[in-house]
Amino acid sequence: MSEIPGLPVDTELPERVGVLVLGAGLAGCAALLAAAEAGQYALLLEKTDEIGGSTVKSAGLSAFAGTDEQAEQGIADSVELLRKDLLEVGKERNDPALVELYCAHQLETYRWLKAHGVVYGEIHAASGQSAPRSHPTDTTRMLVQLLRAAGELGARIVFDAPAERLLHDGARVTGVRLADGREVLADAVVLGTGGFSMNPDLLATFAPQMAHALRQGGTGNQGDGLKMAMALGAGLRDTPYIKGTYGHFHTEHPDEDGTGILAVYKGAIAVNREGRRFVDESRNYKEIGDAALVQPGVTTWQVFDARTMALSNDEVPIYEFAGRERAGMLLKADTIAGLEAAIGLPEGSLQETVAEYNAALAGGGDDPHGRAHLSGGVGRPTPIDQGPFYAHPSGTVVLATYCGLTVDTRMRVLDWWGEPIERLYAAGEITGGFHGAGYMTGTSIGKSGVFGRIAGIHAAAEESDLEW
Ligand SMILES: Cc1cc2nc3c(=O)[nH]c(=O)nc-3n(C[C@H](O)[C@H](O)[C@H](O)COP(=O)(O)OP(=O)(O)OC[C@H]3O[C@@H](n4cnc5c(N)ncnc54)[C@H](O)[C@@H]3O)c2cc1C
Repeated sequence: MSEIPGLPVDTELPERVGVLVLGAGLAGCAALLAAAEAGQYALLLEKTDEIGGSTVKSAGLSAFAGTDEQAEQGIADSVELLRKDLLEVGKERNDPALVELYCAHQLETYRWLKAHGVVYGEIHAASGQSAPRSHPTDTTRMLVQLLRAAGELGARIVFDAPAERLLHDGARVTGVRLADGREVLADAVVLGTGGFSMNPDLLATFAPQMAHALRQGGTGNQGDGLKMAMALGAGLRDTPYIKGTYGHFHTEHPDEDGTGILAVYKGAIAVNREGRRFVDESRNYKEIGDAALVQPGVTTWQVFDARTMALSNDEVPIYEFAGRERAGMLLKADTIAGLEAAIGLPEGSLQETVAEYNAALAGGGDDPHGRAHLSGGVGRPTPIDQGPFYAHPSGTVVLATYCGLTVDTRMRVLDWWGEPIERLYAAGEITGGFHGAGYMTGTSIGKSGVFGRIAGIHAAAEESDLEW
């Protein structure tokens, strides 16, 4: 069990509470605090023996627009630009009501989180953002702050308490049954149980294209909440759009923090087992991830030179190239021929690919993949001609599932006919509809905070049978 000073941990389960929250990630913790602030007796059940799920494994980036940190860094951003980006990235397949809800509440949620002691670091740009709006924070610290604040208002958390079934009286959800048979009754239940990146069976059902992808996320993220809600007829959205992220070290490595590196955005090319490029490397890392998954043998390599290595930045995990070298995660050689041999690529293949690439950049040929930029629409690609040369074995990893339960703007779970399943709420990675067909960095943590808080507020407003 987590031993965090000030954390309101219980071992006994109460018979009945006002708001019952499942899952101690950001969505659950935000919902718990919001319900407690609204005056409800709120209880959080966490399946594992620690807080955090995928939230504490993440890079901790939230997508907010119009913040103090952006103003301090002279970054021009606005809610209008955020809305436009979200819809464009999601290819307008997003639920516009959820995009609108996020835009309307992201800034007040950011202020609420800061008022509870959350601190954000230097803002930087990332995928899908036309203005830098990735706000980094220490996610473990963030959750502890929220739980402590909730505890001061009387909320409680119980660990090692996996919910297994929702209880329903024919008209509404009335509580949950745990795996050990114990039951807790509640006026409202909030599902914050995360996605299913760690459940190979559900991934095979909804995203068979990820069969060869690596998986990362909280150990408890098995799609339990999704299954419990589906058993009551809950609808689903965005399941065709599960994506993997490119750049993850190709096998388990103790220094892999889950985010991988994206040397491609600083000048690297990506090559397959045949020593051939297979994609325009300036594209979104999710699209590169899709392209990598269908390469022979799945593993690919990001190949770069000393010029790209000089752009290494220890403060930004995806650009921490020097750190990867220190951790023994890079292959290195003085010549491209030497690197080709070190990787084990067919003789001459990488030499030919790099020569063609450099020639195309020098204006002596066409780039077959049409690469015109370093990343997105920004920067000019550079030749790979300054030794030493490096290769990072790179695969695609499923970090989050981006799809899930249909919800309305109160975060009530809707059935397949669009009717609310009474007294059942959901927020965070378990929900679908917000991202649509593409993904903007920072919007998973962002939606967990924004929608988690909204779920807690509305769950707390359900009529209560409870006297305490
Ligand atoms: C390596 C990595 C990097 C990432 N980086 C970013 C990033 O920088 N920005 C971003 O926006 N997103 C990022 N993501 C995605 C993001 O972290 C998640 O989508 C988000 O944190 C999900 O929050 P959540 O509260 O919905 O779920 P989680 O944080 O996963 O929490 C769910 C909790 O529910 C518990 N639970 C599950 N089943 C039950 C049950 N039956 N009963 C009780 N409890 C249960 C789990 O044990 C877990 O503690 C990243 C993910 C990973 C893995």
